[in-house]
Amino acid sequence: RAKEQGRNGFSFYDASMDHFAQRQVLLDSKLRQALEERQLSVNYQPILALNTGRIVGAEALVRWRDPELGWISPAEFIPLAERNGLIHKLGDQVLAQACSQAARWQALSPLQIAVNVSSIQFRHGEALCQRVLETLDRTGLPAKCLTIEVTESLLLDNHKDLSATLQPWVAHGVGLAIDDFGTGYSALGYLQRFPFSKLKIDKVFLNKLDTSAPDRSLVEAILAMARALGLEVVAEGIEHDWQAQFLRQRGCHFGQGYLYSPAVTAEEFERLLHQESQHQPRKALAVG
Ligand code: C2E
Ligand code: MG
Ligand code: MG
Ligand code: MG
Repeated sequence: RAKEQGRNGFSFYDASMDHFAQRQVLLDSKLRQALEERQLSVNYQPILALNTGRIVGAEALVRWRDPELGWISPAEFIPLAERNGLIHKLGDQVLAQACSQAARWQALSPLQIAVNVSSIQFRHGEALCQRVLETLDRTGLPAKCLTIEVTESLLLDNHKDLSATLQPWVAHGVGLAIDDFGTGYSALGYLQRFPFSKLKIDKVFLNKLDTSAPDRSLVEAILAMARALGLEVVAEGIEHDWQAQFLRQRGCHFGQGYLYSPAVTAEEFERLLHQESQHQPRKALAVG
C-alpha cells in the first residue's frame, strides 16, 4: 500500500525525507571530524547599553565552515549535535574559546561574555557546573564577566529544580540568562525556581512594535515582570532605531542586533572596541 501511494505522488515526500536523512548522516560525520580537529570558530555579537550606545559585552555564537559544504547554520547543526551527543564537546570548545578571548579583552574593557549552553548539557548539571568554573580558573576570566544563556526549553526538559546544582555559579557570580524569552512554553513559575539573573527578549516581539498594540503591551509586560523579579533585560534582534527607542524609553537597558553589528570575528570585535575607545561614533548608531 505504501508503494502504491509512492507511485501515486507521495514519492516527493519520500525523496525529501531521504535527502534529510542523508544530510544528517553526512553532517554527523563531518561535525565529529570538525570537533576532533577543532575547526569550529566563535563569532562575537556586541551587546550595548541602550542609553549610552557603548559596548558592554558580547554574545559568543559558534560558526562552522566545512571545506565542501560551506557555512552551515547553527540552526541546523546545534539540533543535530543535541541528538547525537556531540553538543557536550562542542559546548566545551565554545566555552573555552569564548572565555580565553574575553579574558584577553579584559585589558581593553571590562566586558561581559555570554555563552549559549544547550539544555542537553544541563542533564549532567553538576559536571557542567564544575567544568565552567574550571574554565574560568584556567583562562583567568572573572566569574562575574561570564553569563550562561539557556533557552526556555530547559524548563521543559528538566523537571527538577536546578537551583541547588547551580548554586556554585551563583556563589562565584556567574550570570544565568533565560534566552528567547516568550517563545517557548511560558512556565512562569520556573523563573523563581532557577537562579536566573538576566532575561533576553526574543526578536519576534520586536518585529511589529510599531504597528501591533498587543506586541507593544507584551514587551511592556515582560519588562515590568523582569523588573519585579530583579532580572536584567537584554533585547535581541534590534534592527531599527525606533525599536531601540521604544525599549530605551521603557527601561530596557541592554540590546543587540543588526542595527549595531552582527556577530563578527574576534579581530573585528576588537576593532570595534578600539574604535569606541577613540570616541569615534559608529555610523549605525543613533542615540536618541
Ligand atoms: P540565540 O542564542 O538566540 O542567538 C541569537 C541569534 O540571532 C544568532 O543567530 C544571531 O546571529 C541572530 N541575530 C542577532 N541579531 C539579529 C538581528 O538583528 N536580526 C536577526 N534576524 N537575527 C539576529 P545564530 O548565530 O545563527 O544562532 C542561532 C541559534 O543557535 C542561537 O540563538 C542559539 O540558540 C544557537 N547557538 C549559536 N551558537 C551556539 C553555541 O555555541 N551553543 C549552543 N548550545 N547554541 C548555539
Ligand atoms: Mg543566545
Ligand atoms: Mg536568543
Ligand atoms: Mg535562539
